[in-house]
Amino acid sequence: MTDVLKAIKGMNDILPGSVPRKDKLPDSALWLWFENTVRSVLARYGYQYIVTPVVEPTALFVRGLGEVTDIVEKEMYSFTDAMNGDKLTLRPEATAGIVRAMVEHNALYNGPLRLWTLGAMFRHERPQKGRYRQFHQLDVEALGFAGPDVDAELILLVRRLWQELGLVEGQHVRLELNSLGQPAERAAHRAALVAYFEAHADQLDEDARRRLHSNPLRILDTKNPAMQALVDAAPQLMDHLGPESLAHFNAVRAALDAAGLAYRVNPRLVRGMDYYNLTVFEWITDQLGSQGTVCGGGRYDGLIEQLGGKPAPAVGFGLGIERLLLLIQELGLPVPDAAPHAYAVIADAALVPQAMRVLEALRSAGLSVQMHAGGGSLKSQFKKADGSGARYALVFGGDEVARGVVGVKALRDASLAQVERPLADAAAWAATLHGAAPDA
Ligand code: ATP
Ligand code: MG
Repeated sequence: MTDVLKAIKGMNDILPGSVPRKDKLPDSALWLWFENTVRSVLARYGYQYIVTPVVEPTALFVRGLGEVTDIVEKEMYSFTDAMNGDKLTLRPEATAGIVRAMVEHNALYNGPLRLWTLGAMFRHERPQKGRYRQFHQLDVEALGFAGPDVDAELILLVRRLWQELGLVEGQHVRLELNSLGQPAERAAHRAALVAYFEAHADQLDEDARRRLHSNPLRILDTKNPAMQALVDAAPQLMDHLGPESLAHFNAVRAALDAAGLAYRVNPRLVRGMDYYNLTVFEWITDQLGSQGTVCGGGRYDGLIEQLGGKPAPAVGFGLGIERLLLLIQELGLPVPDAAPHAYAVIADAALVPQAMRVLEALRSAGLSVQMHAGGGSLKSQFKKADGSGARYALVFGGDEVARGVVGVKALRDASLAQVERPLADAAAWAATLHGAAPDA
């Protein structure tokens, strides 16, 4: 026997729910439901769809995300194009590619743009629940807007998505907010931090002493309980924000307050990419262990210029689809039924042409109908009908068809008697089959 080939570790198939699988990854019906919900929500905010390549020049991410970030240092799938020697990378995130495309097409010439995309991202991480090497993101970007109104709009858009998906904000997911200020303000904060830790050098552990000058911000992440009090009393970036940055942050907060959205200001909230400034936010869940960030984003006013465009502000977020759908599954939230309205049982191959004519008429009337294909006994066909989740079986028996009718048998309600409907005028009784599918 030939060896079975397997998918690459950390890269998953998204399968129909009828295919048994060992892991708990969401099935494709959940996936589609999410995509449809996203389409509808994004349209309601006036965001336009965009698709950019999955492969980009490596330089785009090095320049865009920053050389000393986890992603660029150790998570990128980079390779050399064997045909021409170009250095290429599978996109680890979507923002840099979208900005590249907008700069390349001079797209902001006519004013700002609201965009969204959805697709696979690639990061070489240790695979675990909620963390994969190929994963999928919804990515939403507002380019050319200085905010803070658009910052708040993006956050409220995510809240609406939660609502449509049945997630309760504050209970299943919660919002954390911070301002990273501007680069000069961060530099002043950093200098104050170094001075503060130098003044308390006797209380620093070995790790902290090593980081004091290379990366003093990292000291704030210490897990050492002995240093907690010291870290808690350290200078905060918020205290180094100038009036403009503070006004921006307060305006975002005011808009969220007015919209009745609760959040926590988390002064420790930073993001993994270098390009962020001012507003940053994360939507977090406590149900997925250490993979708790479902959605993260913020403002990146310097990135467009950094990638060669005319300076323009921007803000956006990425949402991890696997994590979100895992959360929805874990919470057992109700998800729409993807079963067909009806399943057609066909007693004999000779009846198929007539049956198909009826099924086509039902589909024209907007119903979802699954045809039993490949023959088999009526008993086995009824078993399939049951397994499909359909509410009705359409029974095309020789006797019925000879009399010009089809049997309609309720599969989920034993109290309903089987009825007969005319083959000739399916459109007239199609509506009686409604009720099994979500959009019925
Ligand atoms: P984390 O801190 O969990 O590594 P991140 O800050 O690297 O997340 P972002 O770059 O902000 O993540 O990406 C936005 C979202 O994409 C994350 O909030 C998360 O939901 C999802 N995500 C990021 N990396 C992965 C991954 N390897 N597998 C699955 N989802 C991911
Ligand atoms: Mg990460």
